[in-house]
This record gives sequence, C-alpha cells and structure tokens, in this order.
Amino acid sequence: MAFQGKSVLVLGGSRGIGAAIVERFAAEGAKVTFTYSGSPEAAQQLAARTGAKTVQTDSADRDAVIARVRDSGPLDILVVNAGIALFGDALDQDPDAVDRLFRINILAPYHASVEAARQMPEGGRIIVIGSVNGDRMPVPGMASYAVSKSALQGLARGLARDFGPRGITINVVQPGPIDTDANPEDGPMKDLMHSFMAIKRHGRPEEVAGMTAWLAGPEAGFVTGAMHTIDGAFGA
Ligand code: NDP
Repeated sequence: MAFQGKSVLVLGGSRGIGAAIVERFAAEGAKVTFTYSGSPEAAQQLAARTGAKTVQTDSADRDAVIARVRDSGPLDILVVNAGIALFGDALDQDPDAVDRLFRINILAPYHASVEAARQMPEGGRIIVIGSVNGDRMPVPGMASYAVSKSALQGLARGLARDFGPRGITINVVQPGPIDTDANPEDGPMKDLMHSFMAIKRHGRPEEVAGMTAWLAGPEAGFVTGAMHTIDGAFGA
C-alpha cells in the first residue's frame, strides 16, 4: 500500500486516464477525491467501486477550481488530468470554444497547482497530464490543443523553481495515443496515429496511471520540472 493514508485530489477523474489514476491511488490505500463535470453516472460508479469521494467541479471555472483545491485541505498529491481537444481548421473555430479549451487545459492546471502548493506539506507531488502533442503535432486542425499542452511544459519548469525549496515536485506526464472515449483505439485515426509509432498500438489508461504513481511515490523525490513521455515513440 504505497500511498496509505495519503490525501489525493484528481481533477477530471470520472473517465479514461483520470479514472485509471483514481483506481490506482485508491487501490494503494490513498484517500482519493476526484472531480467530474459532465459524467455524473460514471463518477458515482467509480466512487462506489473504489471508495473514492467525487464532487462536481467544472475545470473551465477558475474560481470553482481554486475553491475545490483550497477546500480539499492539505493535499499530499494533486493530479490535474481534465483536458479537452478541439478539431478543425483554426480559421473556422469559435473563439469562445478555443478560450474554453485554454481555461480547462492551461488556466485550471496553473491555478490548481498554485493553490495546492499553499497547503501542501514537504514531499508533496503535483502531476499534470499533458500530451506528446506538446512536443510534436504532426496533423492539422489541433493547434489550440498543441498550444495548451506546450504551455504545461513552462508551467512545470517555472513552478518547480517556486516549490522546489519546500520539497514539492511538479511534473508533466505526456501520453501519446491512449485508448479512451476521447481517442478510442478503434476510431478512424488509428492507422495514421500508429504509422508515427514504434509500438503500434494505443496505450492503456493503466499504463499512464503507472507512470503517474511512480512520479507521486518516494523514488521520484529528485524528479521535478520535467516532462515524462509515454507514447510508443509517437514523438521520437
Ligand atoms: P476523456 O475524454 O476520456 O476523459 C476526460 C476526463 O476529463 C473525464 O473524466 C472528464 O469528466 C474530465 N473533464 C473534461 N472536461 C472537464 C471539465 N470541464 N471539468 C472537469 N472535468 C472535466 O479523456 P482522456 O482520458 O483521453 O484524457 C485525459 C487527459 O489526458 C487529458 O488532459 C488529455 O488531453 C490527455 N491526453 C489524452 C490522450 C489520449 O490519447 N487519450 C493523449 C494525450 C493526452 P466528465 O466526463 O465528467 O466531464
């Protein structure tokens, strides 16, 4: 039970990668709370299965995110997983939709990380789920997503300097294609995505949860301000 009694908050935990992260920490003894936005049923089922607590918090709402982190009390581990993508010609995209993506994918991770650090004890861990698209964007129509995931790199590098003296680490996990509702392995992009990869399959949410757990654990105390790519060599 590597995380026995640890207080963990996962922002965006009802489905996909976030749900696997909730399952992993709960299975290892942590006291887990996770947020959801649009999937109350999936959230309730996951909470019932794992013993985790769930609360509705829209990551597009900055003040709600800050309040949720603050009201969670001192966290040993914060995982910011909630993220969305937009597809299509940048010239055709609704600027409000683009700004909403930036609020969820950039502003929420930034403000949640800062708020968590206020109460976090020495040895605290912040892990943000970015994407290999922060390094490489090989297709058109996803520029706003690429912007958002690159921004997380600066977030981790900068906040690592602020929090390091207190023994708090902050890292970005950068998945490649992972089999979730957002990117199902049987979807139309499968062959194109696999053509970029050395290991020609989608990753599993549990594999991303495993890397996240390692970064949150005692062996990773010297790892901070860094990007950790798990992508079957999509970005290589
Ligand atoms: P899914 O769409 O399968 O799940 C997204 C999760 O985030 C859900 O639990 C959803 O909750 C939550 N979420 C989305 N918007 C909000 C919001 N406004 N407020 C609160 N929670 C929200 O996505 P994945 O599991 O595939 O992706 C998770 C993360 O991993 C994202 O940051 C994504 O960018 C990143 N990623 C995914 C890859 C992939 O191939 N799957 C590749 C690289 C990175 P709810 O349904 O309750 O709203």
